[in-house]
Amino acid sequence: MCGICAGFSTEDQIKDVVEGLKKLEYRGYDSSGVAFKENGKLKTLKSVGEIKELAKKLTNVKSNIVIGHTRWATHGVVSEENAHPHLSFDRRYAIVHNGIIENHKELRQKYFAGKEFASQTDTEVFVNLIAIQNGKTINKISSACKIVKGSFAIALLDERADKIFFAKRNSPLYVAFCDGCGMAGSDISVFAGKFEECFMMGNDE
Ligand code: GLU
Repeated sequence: MCGICAGFSTEDQIKDVVEGLKKLEYRGYDSSGVAFKENGKLKTLKSVGEIKELAKKLTNVKSNIVIGHTRWATHGVVSEENAHPHLSFDRRYAIVHNGIIENHKELRQKYFAGKEFASQTDTEVFVNLIAIQNGKTINKISSACKIVKGSFAIALLDERADKIFFAKRNSPLYVAFCDGCGMAGSDISVFAGKFEECFMMGNDE
């Protein structure tokens, strides 16, 4: 189990996402991280330990589009390399993932034989599988979701778009929107004091 929190708005989202991750710490707390856009480029910051360790690294960071993760390792040891978000090889996509990609070994072999991965996680295979699909990002995600087996809730940043993409199958994911802003989380506690309504994404949505 682990926790996802993501937010976009015209205002800074780092603070809200870190606050959200703290509420999700019960789901996993071995390491954490965020990805965000700064001057149009994807950046990631990660930390081993509790969210407060990550928060220390983020005191001077601001971004209006952020995805975050608190991890309970299933694939790979507890380390900064294995902490989410994970980037695609071309660094275009950053992903946070809650769940298990059961066929990750087979996928590594079939699509990425000989490639050096930055982590030991099933998640890094998933983000790269998305990156090599055809079409717009939304179509790439959809195609990759048909190939993976297992469970996932994901939030994905695309360096070329001011959007956060979400998908889920058998892991929880809730989203809430207002005019020009939105938030997502693994449970509804992340919306407290911010949104009055949220909805649960459906499987394969
Ligand atoms: N399988 C991923 C990892 O080990 C996500 C973990 C989880 O959802 O608990 O990093």
